[in-house]
Amino acid sequence: MSWVAQLARPDIVALESYTCPVREPGLTRLHANELPWRSLGDDSPAGLNCYPEPQPAELIAGLAQLYNVDATSVLATRGIDEGIDLLVRGFCRAGMDAVMACPPAFVMYTIAARIQGAEVLNVPLRAENAFALDPEALLARWTAAVKLVFLCSPNSPTGNLLSEAAILAVADALAGRSLVVVDEAYIDFADRESLAHSLALRPQLVLLRTLSKAHALAGARCGSLLAHPEVVALLRKIIAPFPLPQPTTDAALRALQPAQLAATRAAIRRVCSERTRLLEVLPALPRVKRVWPSDANFILTEFADAEQALTRARAAGVLVRDARAYVPDALRITVGSEGENDRLLEAWS
Ligand SMILES: *Cc1c(COP(=O)(O)O)cnc(C)c1O
Repeated sequence: MSWVAQLARPDIVALESYTCPVREPGLTRLHANELPWRSLGDDSPAGLNCYPEPQPAELIAGLAQLYNVDATSVLATRGIDEGIDLLVRGFCRAGMDAVMACPPAFVMYTIAARIQGAEVLNVPLRAENAFALDPEALLARWTAAVKLVFLCSPNSPTGNLLSEAAILAVADALAGRSLVVVDEAYIDFADRESLAHSLALRPQLVLLRTLSKAHALAGARCGSLLAHPEVVALLRKIIAPFPLPQPTTDAALRALQPAQLAATRAAIRRVCSERTRLLEVLPALPRVKRVWPSDANFILTEFADAEQALTRARAAGVLVRDARAYVPDALRITVGSEGENDRLLEAWS
C-alpha cells in the first residue's frame, strides 16, 4: 500500500466513488437528464442547461501553468475553504485522528477539523518571536494521530511569511507520516516565491492557492489544492460531483488570460505600494501602539483603545476586522484603494 493510502482514511481509500456522466462534446446528450434548451438570458459559452466538467481540463491546465506545477498535481476547488475541508475529511477519522495548527492563524483549519470530529493540537506562533514558526516545538508536540499540519504563509491575521527553511524542516521530519499543508492565499503579495518548486521533491507537501485575493475573484470561489497526484486522486473521490459552477470556471479562465494577468500584477503592485504607505503612516497615528510588518494585503495593528478605533472607523463608513480574539488590542486592516485608505487614516487622525 502507498504511503498516501496508509495515511488516508481506510474507508475513503476503499470507497467506490460516483462516476460522472461522460463528456463527448460531439454527441447529443441524452444521458444526464438535462433540458435541451437554455434558460432565458443564459448567454454563457457552454450553456447552463448542461452539467459542467468536474475538473475542467482547460482550467486545470491554466492553473497548473499559473502555479508552475504539473496538471496532475492540481485539484480545483470552491476556494481554499473547500480544499481544507476535503483534506480533513479524506485523512482524519472522527474521534481518532488529529490536525496541528499554529495560532493565531486562519480559523478554518480548526473549524473544519472540529466538524469532522478530529482533534486539534495547537503550537502557537509567539508575538515575542515576531510570530515565527517554531519547528522544534511543533515536532515535539506531534503524535502519530496527526495526519495534517496546517501552516499559513504569509500568515493571517499576523501578515508575516513563515521561514521557508522552518517549513521544509517540518516537512522533512514528517515525510510519510503527515501531510504538511501550506496555505499560500497571500503569497502573491509577498516578495517570495511559492513553495511549488518543492512539491516534486516533497510529496508530503500540500499547497493551497486561491483566485480570491490577488486575482480579485473572491465572489467566484475558485481555489487550487496542489499536491502529489495520489493525494489529488484521493480527494477527487470525496469532492462533490460537479464542484465548480460553469460561471466560476468561465471567470477563472478570464483571470488566466495574459492581459488580465498583467492587470493583476499591476493591481498587486498598487496594493503593495499602498501597504508601504500605510506601514509608514499608521505608526505615527495617535493611540496606535504597534504596527506589525506585512507580506500580505492586510496589516495587523494594535491600538491603545481598539474599541474606539473600530467605532471611529465605522462612523467614517469603514469596516476593519476585529482581531482581538487572536492578538490583544489588535485590528486587521485590509489594504484598500488610495481613497479608501485615506478615509480610514483620517478617521484615526
Ligand atoms: C481568505 C483566506 C482563505 C480562503 O480563501 P478562499 O479561496 O476564498 O476560500 C484561505 N486561507 C487564508 C489564510 C485566507 O485568509
